[in-house]
Amino acid sequence: MIRVERRETEKSKEAIDSLKREKSKNGSYNTLEVNKALREMFHGKCYICENKQVTSFQIEHLNPHRGNVDLKYDWNNLFLVCAHCNNTKLDRFAPILDCTKENIEELIAFRKKGYFGTDEKLIFDMLDFRIETQNTVKLLQEVYYGSTAQKKMEAAILRRILRKELSEFKEYVREYKEAEEEEKEDLRCLLQQHLKDSSPFAAFKRWLIRDNKEAYPDLFMYIDCGNC
Ligand SMILES: [Zn+2]
Repeated sequence: MIRVERRETEKSKEAIDSLKREKSKNGSYNTLEVNKALREMFHGKCYICENKQVTSFQIEHLNPHRGNVDLKYDWNNLFLVCAHCNNTKLDRFAPILDCTKENIEELIAFRKKGYFGTDEKLIFDMLDFRIETQNTVKLLQEVYYGSTAQKKMEAAILRRILRKELSEFKEYVREYKEAEEEEKEDLRCLLQQHLKDSSPFAAFKRWLIRDNKEAYPDLFMYIDCGNC
């Protein structure tokens, strides 16, 4: 999970207009305009698990609307989520952190410890102890590890995608460290792509660099984050 700017764009304006129209006739918040604007804003990633390889995206209400029409059609309350995370969250973890208002990576450290099979563990270290942060960590635990039999299977697939993506990233970092000066430039561009907001699992990649900033000071510079 990373911070996402809820910027005003052409697509977001169209989404807000469509929500206004739908609200007046008690229609659906799930319009084409809303879908397009959310895809753009969340870089085509689920805001909870940061997976991009998703076939079924859904629209989620950060604060459950439970029939409250203002919350139901409020653009600021709509988030792009994958089916796995949406079905995990439901309204069981409220309140969680709002990633459009807070820098999640300053509040939670995303780490993967160990290698292969049973040693491997994803860790969500709390750097802040508000109830919202505690609930977000509980949600992340359940998203990446599952609770029911079906969810555990889905979580295992998610972890496999994450593991592949992180291994590839680490391999480039290793190559970068060993590269001659003239090869470094290409690798630097590649690593910059991996560290951008639009990159899948950016929180895990950026925390890997934060945790090794003495070894990679020039990569640490690419992490676009105010205080950390
Ligand atoms: Zn997800």
